Amino acid sequence: MHKHADFDNLWVADNPVIDHRLSEIRAINTDKRMFRQNVKHIAQMMAYSVTQDLPRATQSVETPLERFDAPVLKNEFPVIVPILRAGLAMADGLEDVLPEASVAHIGMYRDHDTLEAVEYLNKLPDLAGRDVLLVDPMLATGHSAALALDMIKAKGADMARVKFVVLVAAPEGVKLMQDKYPALKIYTAALDSHLNENAYIVPGLGDAGDRSFGTV
Ligand code: URA
Repeated sequence: MHKHADFDNLWVADNPVIDHRLSEIRAINTDKRMFRQNVKHIAQMMAYSVTQDLPRATQSVETPLERFDAPVLKNEFPVIVPILRAGLAMADGLEDVLPEASVAHIGMYRDHDTLEAVEYLNKLPDLAGRDVLLVDPMLATGHSAALALDMIKAKGADMARVKFVVLVAAPEGVKLMQDKYPALKIYTAALDSHLNENAYIVPGLGDAGDRSFGTV
């Protein structure tokens, strides 16, 4: 992944296999089985970069040959926080790589009148001293991410230890995150062009929740 030249808070994947898998799921005729499988594979591949800066400690380990101070994670495994429902396949991919991580779901819907995100489920534990991986495939306006991040903050998380893992980001959402949560790091498989008048990402991949679960 490389840090984006225009956004200090954004890391963008530069792996050809991730590009290929993402291009497959952008295609309108890709079915839900392949959609979810690719989302999971991309998240598995992104897990490497997302965990790259976790601090190490040493632990004395007896190998068959000798005892030595072996590197291990210094802190508890991160808490994976998927936003329902589109975040589920990405959370699966991260959990494959980090099976010790707990998975704390957040549910929200968009109020049709106000267009604001409204919370209906919050399974977040106490997040003081924890690393947090918030997952949602689409960073569009950033409104639902902002509600999720406020919920995460209210549980005591240090925003410098929160990472937002997405598949496709729009510049509008990245900018909102930068203004509202300057310490937050965003990791994305791609940065797309813009939002359309219905707040869909262009070129994007459509509604990630509907495409994951065949409710298009
Ligand atoms: N949410 C989606 O699922 N897709 C978009 O393009 C924007 C928000």
